[in-house]
Amino acid sequence: MPLVKVDSPNVEYSGEHITSHYDYSTVEVREDSGHKICTPSTRRFTIRTERHVPKTGLLMVGLGGNNGTTVLGGILANKYGMTWETKEGTQCANYLGSLTQSSTVRLGTDALKGTDVYVPMSDLLPMVHPNDVVVGGWDISGTNMGDAMRRAKVLDVSLQLQLYPHMKDMVPMPGVYFKNFIASNQEARADNVLRGTKMEQMEQVRQQIRQFRAATGVDKVIVLWTANTERYASVGQGLNDTAANLMAAIERGDDEISPSTIYCVASILEGCSYINGSPQNTFVPGVLELATQHDTFIAGDDFKSGQTKMKSVLVDFLVSAGIKPTSIVSYNHLGNNDGYNLSSPQQFRSKEISKSNVVDDMVASNRLLYQEDEKPDHCVVIKYIPYVGDSKRAMDEYTSEIFMGGHNTIVMHNTCEDSLLAAPLIIDLVVLCELAERIRIMDHTHKTPKYEKMHVVLSLLSYLTKAPIVPPNTPVVNALFKQRDCIINIMRACVGLPPDNHMLLEHKLK
Ligand code: NAD
Repeated sequence: MPLVKVDSPNVEYSGEHITSHYDYSTVEVREDSGHKICTPSTRRFTIRTERHVPKTGLLMVGLGGNNGTTVLGGILANKYGMTWETKEGTQCANYLGSLTQSSTVRLGTDALKGTDVYVPMSDLLPMVHPNDVVVGGWDISGTNMGDAMRRAKVLDVSLQLQLYPHMKDMVPMPGVYFKNFIASNQEARADNVLRGTKMEQMEQVRQQIRQFRAATGVDKVIVLWTANTERYASVGQGLNDTAANLMAAIERGDDEISPSTIYCVASILEGCSYINGSPQNTFVPGVLELATQHDTFIAGDDFKSGQTKMKSVLVDFLVSAGIKPTSIVSYNHLGNNDGYNLSSPQQFRSKEISKSNVVDDMVASNRLLYQEDEKPDHCVVIKYIPYVGDSKRAMDEYTSEIFMGGHNTIVMHNTCEDSLLAAPLIIDLVVLCELAERIRIMDHTHKTPKYEKMHVVLSLLSYLTKAPIVPPNTPVVNALFKQRDCIINIMRACVGLPPDNHMLLEHKLK
């Protein structure tokens, strides 16, 4: 039972659903004789959220990696209420860095005191708690999860000692490995791989999903890629441009069918949402068509955890303050296995593409600063430095033009602790994706209104991704607080609350 209950004639609570009759207000703009003509319009939607939270399974591709072991270890540590000693004192397990578990939402104003009232985001709607998520997954390395956690060198050693007995008997399922998609330096760990043709491996992955479902008794499974970054796959006519061509390409074992495509297709065919936490182009047109045919969510690409997250805040601030960033130069060095894989040029190229467009929407929002085709210089460098391990360093220099020909330079040094930033994002992706699966929206402007799921490209999760994929012909939003407001305001709509407009007009009157 969520803490928040809305007292409004537009909201109904039944045993099964929360139903909200919601007026969605937007502004349409058209050009006329040099004027921008704005027409406010309001559309009526009915939004229905299923209240029962299902038992949810998470299957991670790359379970034995730094992120995979940190997610699993983090969930177990929270579930068992673990505490451990550090040189600063006793540390308790927590979910810091998770939007759904550790951030709050402003509900409104206290009726008596006139002060702001905040609640945990997870109190707005019924959501799965991460402690209840059943975790499993694949890895091409057959190392058990206890030793994989040690290999990752992410969690404090005294926590590792407590977690080890809980993780040592868990071994990842054998994975799909086609040599030429991840760096050749990964070959040495590939000792736990499926065999057979590409179609046979896809069928085996489907079988593994079904077995996990049956063995754990979960009601639903979400599949999430947190394996190594792959090189881009070719996209072409007759290859992966339609769902039928994609299936035919898997059948004939085409060289351009990547492991991530195999997992993604298998997930879609099993009715599981598929989330891509790396930059590669798994979501080719054929995958999008297949997801549409099966009405299964896909979301991605690439977790937005460190440097890009800062960028999507800082550039938004600068551009919206009327300051003109002209040069953004970013260096990274990291020493974990992700960095080792990215030291190979084709895999780095995937990352470079994913990091490159992050300021586009902010730049395009202010034509007072930038001409139509003008963009700031933007460069991203990544180097592999083993010694720093998972403690990635991200260094950025932002140079901007300011008043009267002046320049402002901001330099940032960000020690990321990569997997400790990424693990809570993985948890949020699962919690929010699971919630989205229970939401149905009826658009009353349709001829025959009926309840429908959101578009299969779940852009609601953009906040958590570096290069958000969005439904065709819809805007990409990178600005972090717009992305956050999108999540919160859709949740508010589900319970019949208007978007928070931050006007506080009631406090501005005499
Ligand atoms: P990692 O190298 O520690 O883990 C990846 C794991 O995937 C390895 O254990 C590897 O054996 C396994 N693997 C590789 N190919 C596989 C396949 N086809 N099937 C099954 N398993 C496979 O990397 P990580 O630090 O956990 O990062 C995982 C991914 O997340 C990387 O692609 C990285 O670029 C991306 N990412 C991470 C962050 C972050 O950690 N902050 C942010 C954005 C994106």
